[in-house]
Amino acid sequence: MKVSIKENIQDCNELNLQADNIYNCSRQVCANARNQPFKYICKYFKISCNEDSLAFHEDLVNRFSAIEQGKKSYIAEREALIKSVHTEVPTLIMLFSMNRLYRELGIRPFDIEDKYYPSYRFLYVSSGGNSSLECTVDFDVPTLEKFVHYIASVIEKKNSMVCQRQLMTNNLREQIKRRDGYKCVCCGASLEDEPHLLLEIDRIIPVFKGGGKTLPENLQTLCWRCNRSKSDKLVN
Ligand SMILES: [Zn+2]
Repeated sequence: MKVSIKENIQDCNELNLQADNIYNCSRQVCANARNQPFKYICKYFKISCNEDSLAFHEDLVNRFSAIEQGKKSYIAEREALIKSVHTEVPTLIMLFSMNRLYRELGIRPFDIEDKYYPSYRFLYVSSGGNSSLECTVDFDVPTLEKFVHYIASVIEKKNSMVCQRQLMTNNLREQIKRRDGYKCVCCGASLEDEPHLLLEIDRIIPVFKGGGKTLPENLQTLCWRCNRSKSDKLVN
């Protein structure tokens, strides 16, 4: 299979520094967290609202979105492959022995659940243990996008000026892909030629090299292969 979903998920599992952040707190804090989750997550899990953390979380959205896209491509490619052998495989095997079929087709089944998303939990348990309250926020893509907007709004308030930069939202990612003609600007692979190709948005100057600004000029479309080899080169 061409799709890199497995490597991609492994990437994000490594990224997922603290999969489950739990804060044991009073009932009041837990109740407040329910009302204003982002404010309380920042306060109690020590996430600063500054440009660095904005860029970091934008990158999380970017990478998790690529994974979601990769999952869809993986499933579509798997279905296409199974469809292509459909007439040659007895129905009973299709129904009862999908795992064997996957093995024979060279598809390695693996977990594509959402467990790689970080989550933040506020937990109150009374001293006797008979009363409790909890507030759990999973940082999936839609929640992360909201969180990015939240950080941006806090920065804006602090600076009392309008943010000059754009946020790395789904809209912006789509805009960059459209601008680049749904092609990898590095190797030229295109969605037109490979319908299941995983295209990702890359910062030309990465965040850790001072390229925190999310400006269209600093963004480009890369296929997952080129993006992987770029990050390998940067790390090594
Ligand atoms: Zn490429």
